[in-house]
Amino acid sequence: MYKDKKDLRKKIFFLIDFAIDEQDKNNPYVEEYVSLAIRIAKKINYRLPKEIHMKVCKKCFKIRNSNNTRYRTETNNKKKFLKIHCLACDYLKKIRIS
Ligand SMILES: [Zn+2]
Repeated sequence: MYKDKKDLRKKIFFLIDFAIDEQDKNNPYVEEYVSLAIRIAKKINYRLPKEIHMKVCKKCFKIRNSNNTRYRTETNNKKKFLKIHCLACDYLKKIRIS
């Protein structure tokens, strides 16, 4: 079916964007789309880019919004990190931003 990894990567981005669109329409299967996208990424050994981690939680598959997420910046040895805390599952994601 999808033998090309490039196609699958496109599919991951599509699924995430689709899930975010559907979230506004109160679609109850939003988390399933996100979980599918993350399962595909695991299968092809693809590290999800920062943009996706900013949008969704990879542990509980929820779309991030200001109600379920806390952001904090941290500077360490002149490196800047963004800590994203998911309040739904308590998962802490650290992203390097500079
Ligand atoms: Zn979470």
